[in-house]
Amino acid sequence: MRNPAIIIVDLLNDFVTGELKVERAQKIIQPLRKLVEAGRKNGVPVIYSNDAHYKMDHEVVHKWGGHAIKGTPGAEVIPQLVPKKEDFIVEKRTYSGFYETGLEPLLRSLYQGRGVKTIILGGLHTHICIRHTSADAFFRGYKIVIARDGVEAFTEETHCEGLEYLKEVYNAEIKAVVEIIREFKKPK
Ligand code: ZN
Repeated sequence: MRNPAIIIVDLLNDFVTGELKVERAQKIIQPLRKLVEAGRKNGVPVIYSNDAHYKMDHEVVHKWGGHAIKGTPGAEVIPQLVPKKEDFIVEKRTYSGFYETGLEPLLRSLYQGRGVKTIILGGLHTHICIRHTSADAFFRGYKIVIARDGVEAFTEETHCEGLEYLKEVYNAEIKAVVEIIREFKKPK
């Protein structure tokens, strides 16, 4: 895996236990903990891509209602996955982690300026923010890896369709967290 970075998408209180809570999110917490811990241990940057909405944001007004409002507890990362000092946090105001955010310059500046090449995605939701972030990653030439047991959606159906789409359209590799961690440990 060339110059990987882990991006954890919207593992925020409102999506797990709050306004837009989905029970299925519980399943991915432990695998993602393992993933970020292994990442930190092996020098893989960990980036949190977090909704931090204003009340007038388009998707708040026209689609989902109030969720992950900047500055509220609902917009904080869940307690089980709290970012560490060495991690990066990039706020976003709609589905894609790239859209009008500092994510791209951050990725370019990592690995002593040689830049991230592989993006490992975990979080919520497979068919929404993971999908749109993958689209923007693909357009920019990144290799995309999806943590199979580290992404979820509202239903089994939207989750499975989401994975299929990522594989088919963005050539994403769908891998279990244990397989991804194994690759961190391989000599480069
Ligand atoms: Zn949102």
